[in-house]
Amino acid sequence: MLLKSTMGTVLGLFPPKWLLGKSFRENCKFIHNAQWWPAERAREYQLNKLREMLKIAYERTKFYRRMFDSVGFRLGDINTLDNMNRLPTIDKQVVIDNLSDMCTKSVRDSDVDFGSTGGTSGTPLHFYMSASRSRVEYAYLTMSWERVDYKLGMPMAVLRGRVVNPDRNGFRHEYDPILRHHYYSSFHMSDGNMAHYLEHIATIGPCFLHVYPSSIAALARLILRDGIHTPTNIRGIIAESEIVYPDQQQMVEEVFGCRYFSCYGQSEKVVLAAGCEKSDDYHVWPTYGYFELLDDKGDQVTTPGQRGEIMGTGFINTIMPFIRYRTGDWATYVGERCEACGREHTVIRDIRGHRTQEVLIAADSSEIPWTALNMHDDTFIHVRQFQFMQETPGHALLRIVPADGFGDEDASRIHRNLRRKIDDKLSFGIELVDVIPLSARGKAIYVDQRIPRKQRQKNRKT
Ligand SMILES: [Zn+2]
Repeated sequence: MLLKSTMGTVLGLFPPKWLLGKSFRENCKFIHNAQWWPAERAREYQLNKLREMLKIAYERTKFYRRMFDSVGFRLGDINTLDNMNRLPTIDKQVVIDNLSDMCTKSVRDSDVDFGSTGGTSGTPLHFYMSASRSRVEYAYLTMSWERVDYKLGMPMAVLRGRVVNPDRNGFRHEYDPILRHHYYSSFHMSDGNMAHYLEHIATIGPCFLHVYPSSIAALARLILRDGIHTPTNIRGIIAESEIVYPDQQQMVEEVFGCRYFSCYGQSEKVVLAAGCEKSDDYHVWPTYGYFELLDDKGDQVTTPGQRGEIMGTGFINTIMPFIRYRTGDWATYVGERCEACGREHTVIRDIRGHRTQEVLIAADSSEIPWTALNMHDDTFIHVRQFQFMQETPGHALLRIVPADGFGDEDASRIHRNLRRKIDDKLSFGIELVDVIPLSARGKAIYVDQRIPRKQRQKNRKT
């Protein structure tokens, strides 16, 4: 611990860009320049990337070979981007059913990571990805955040589902001196703790907040409710991973007096989009993946104002290609250029989808965002479907539809991994069931929350 902390102090003197390595710096440079390419150059880049991805998918995976052959598609058929529509689309269920046939190499290799996220209707989605993708992804995020004057190395206050252990005074804060990130626990958002977080944030110098939309909304509501002094050193708020509601964004901007900047992405890494210096509309990064917006009939949306489902073919995960992958998220088409900044990117707005702001209610009536509980590891590996049902603050029932191979070991792993995050805030039991009823699109999927909203607010005051 001492060595780590001493090393941290020394490394903290160097700019993070150098500590994150040469490939990170090269990625940043490429992305920084590529965002200003004229549309034609970006299209040429995409065409080459698509040819590469389709080639490895066809030559190295059983799944895509079967699929391309079934529709008579040949690798040489890709002469323009429009040719992509000759390929079928895939969705989460297709990935769940064909996981073992979709990888381009042995998943035991050291450059392969296992990933997981929430699928549709509470079904966990498992997949594999390149171990190098975090560095590429982080370069894209950093270059997006720079549009609102974030500079790598500026202090960042992070409230995003990390397990943060208490210090000797019981304060849940951890500091990473290399990235200069201050982590606070988003599982312990009681009024007292949140007030403490705000006091601490006020002392870290000019900084950005990196949050879930639901956690920053909780902080803003506390400030309004209790008349707490808003820290004046916050230069901007970066919100990701959940739906952004416009009225919530407006409230947060008013309370904190700074820009609320959103980025959109998925664990599957097919499409990444972010606002710009002047506009909150999402600019789709053309070098991250190939983006398509499809209407109900499966046709490309090209009329401004029309809505469609976000679909992508990712470029950064070569271990398990996601080709024409439907994300389940919907957006409104704006155009092929942002008039405010001049970038020739596809522009979309009003993203809505499966990532609603579902919450569990802790014993002290504080809210635990579902997004923070979402497990990105093997916790739910033998689970077909799951959902929390809650009727009392502080207690929930986790309903599980087991998959083949589910045993006592799985139940204890689920208990252990969830407890690491929620410890004394919430107790839960596990119930094995045959089915969990399907929810409508956009409705709660992971939390069947039965505590009335009115009662939750009443509890907070008492
Ligand atoms: Zn713009």
